[in-house]
Amino acid sequence: MFQVQILGTSAAIPTNSRLPSAQVVTINDRHHLVDCGEGTQMQLIKHRVKFARLDVIFISHLHGDHILGLPGLLNSLSLYERNFPLKLYAPSGLKQILDLVFAQTHSYLNYELEFIPMEDFAVGDIIYDTERYRVRCLPLEHRIFCRGFKFEEVNKRPKFDFYKAKALEIPNNYFNLLKQGNIITLENGRTVHPEEVLLPPDNPLSFAYCSDTSYHEELIEHIKHTKLLYHEATFLHNMKDRAEATCHSTALQAGKIARSAEVRQLLLGHFSARYKNLQPILDEARSVFPNTMLAKEGYVFNLKDLG
Ligand SMILES: [Zn+2]
Ligand SMILES: [Zn+2]
Repeated sequence: MFQVQILGTSAAIPTNSRLPSAQVVTINDRHHLVDCGEGTQMQLIKHRVKFARLDVIFISHLHGDHILGLPGLLNSLSLYERNFPLKLYAPSGLKQILDLVFAQTHSYLNYELEFIPMEDFAVGDIIYDTERYRVRCLPLEHRIFCRGFKFEEVNKRPKFDFYKAKALEIPNNYFNLLKQGNIITLENGRTVHPEEVLLPPDNPLSFAYCSDTSYHEELIEHIKHTKLLYHEATFLHNMKDRAEATCHSTALQAGKIARSAEVRQLLLGHFSARYKNLQPILDEARSVFPNTMLAKEGYVFNLKDLG
């Protein structure tokens, strides 16, 4: 399982239908929260994301629309009697913010919050690593220190060709040995090599989160051939000057980044509250990269569907 659920797609100011940035990346039943704008914990509850399966939180930068939901969520996890550690990757200043909030509200956490400052990593570094997937940090260009995140599968195993095994009349009790790469000898003396019944693994799936950033070509090499790219599109291109001044991107620029990086699917988000109708934003990005969609609160993207 590798899926992304969108919890918030708004830029700095929420609207009556859009909330500030947050999304959940779920891999093999473990949840990873990426950014935590206001209202995130209500979104998690609404969409039945199990708090007990939340292992790691990644925060891109310290603007309010990406962190203001965090103190409440961390506090709720404590009230839910979480008793195992939570990793938090974020710019170092967040530790001071949280310490102050918890001290002044006389709150304490009954679980270990393992804070990992993002300044410790160079862009492209692997910051989180498991047997099946890892997370790298991406260069974003914003008004303050800001990093994106790329989730990527690793060590994909070859697929077992059940029909081929049946055609070769291999008994079921040999399947696991073959899956593990062993050469087997059947009772009739015939030898079977694993290559005879194993297919190449599926292409590794990957998801890159890039919000907030101005048009930043350095990003392209880091997200080359990513399956699903979430890129901010705060403005339409007729507000290019405003985008430059605030270190954000236009929909056209997001499309250009997706095209240059040859990603499979572009997902736009972080929309300015000025846009009630997002169709022009979608049309603009599609003019340079047709395989584009709009992110929307509650939507789930199953990476396997992208092939
Ligand atoms: Zn933002
Ligand atoms: Zn920002």
